[in-house]
Amino acid sequence: MKRNLAILGSTGSIGTQALEVVAANPDIFEVEVLTAQNNADLLIEQAAKFQPNVVVISNEALYDKVFSALDPLDIKVYTGEKSLSSVVQMESINMVLTALVGYAGLIPTVAAIKAGKHIALANKETLVVAGELVTDLAQKNRVDILPVDSEHSAIFQCLVGEFHNPIEKIILTASGGPFLGRDRDFLKSVTKLQALKHPNWSMGAKITIDSASLMNKGLEVIEAKWLFGLTPDQIEVVVHPQSIIHSMVQFEDGSIKAQMGLPDMRVPIQFALSYPARLKSDFPRFDFSKYPSLTFQRPDIQTFRNLGFAFEALSQGGNMACIVNAANEIAVASFLRDEIGFLEMSDLIEDCMHRVSFVKTPTLEDYIRTDEEARRIAMEFSF
Ligand code: NAD
Ligand code: MG
Repeated sequence: MKRNLAILGSTGSIGTQALEVVAANPDIFEVEVLTAQNNADLLIEQAAKFQPNVVVISNEALYDKVFSALDPLDIKVYTGEKSLSSVVQMESINMVLTALVGYAGLIPTVAAIKAGKHIALANKETLVVAGELVTDLAQKNRVDILPVDSEHSAIFQCLVGEFHNPIEKIILTASGGPFLGRDRDFLKSVTKLQALKHPNWSMGAKITIDSASLMNKGLEVIEAKWLFGLTPDQIEVVVHPQSIIHSMVQFEDGSIKAQMGLPDMRVPIQFALSYPARLKSDFPRFDFSKYPSLTFQRPDIQTFRNLGFAFEALSQGGNMACIVNAANEIAVASFLRDEIGFLEMSDLIEDCMHRVSFVKTPTLEDYIRTDEEARRIAMEFSF
């Protein structure tokens, strides 16, 4: 079962860990495409090692540098807005790992699905923005969307062998992030350095801030709805600070299945890439004696309002989750530039939910327009 991969966002946290999985299993995985936005040095290094057919460097200013390094190795180099959407259609690819961050994942993922490529989905924003459209398209094209996100991988792993059994509900676990138990007074003045320190996972900057604000869990609620065909009241969020139980499924007989292990993204990445097989790994193993207690508590949605916004977006439907996503991307970027405070990120998202034009049954073009409008309105937000 040779898998020929395109890895979109190969220089990021998920991308580099995916390449570790590939390097450990050379008989199974072949890398056809690697892509990055800005990190030309790492992209060149990865390409020299994994010998893909093609690389894409999205930042056009870096094209010459990447070209002159890789042309002698017979590796094609592309840049420009449309290049991600065209390289994913290459005949030699059978699976696309979407490890790029944000809304930028949507259009290339749609192109890959239309070309019949299976998707290993790390880029949760794609399902947040256009979950209905993307999952419909995948069904029509008989394409699998295999979750990489650890919670969704956990749910998927619990469902293997149970696909004929209805789900009563899923229980998404959340670490609670670095500010678990803190009140609004404390959060008013937290800095990006504090917010970037996640207790259990080392990840890209955007998802780390999302984890601190519970937006990440909100995005994951929406992602779960589309991946597993659930209604909002079938999705429960439980804070589990040790991040050992990665999520759970409760069936109609009341039985709950959990998937657990150390927090190590290589496990869900590898499972998505190798499904239905489980490959032998040398990742560190869980030791029960080091975790005498696993604890659980309810999320505080009065303090961390973003999680409530996600449920609100689901109940409104239409393009509301697309609005929340775009507003959040602007909010996080502004917070990372020290332009707005931690709690103001939620104020900005709420403002956009009220002001951006609502579309009940959006097309792909509507999502593109909504994303643009929401970003414009989010940029105008003043305090
Ligand atoms: P990251 O910031 O570490 O890496 C992002 C990658 O995408 C880089 O290779 C970058 O060059 C590329 N990229 C960024 N913006 C781009 C753009 N506009 N166009 C093209 N390429 C672009 O991010 P990450 O933490 O690896 O996260 C990637 C995705 O996986 C996100 O959607 C995130 O929510 C999801 N995810 C990550 C983790 C994790 O542990 N890091 C866990 C679950 C889900
Ligand atoms: Mg997750």
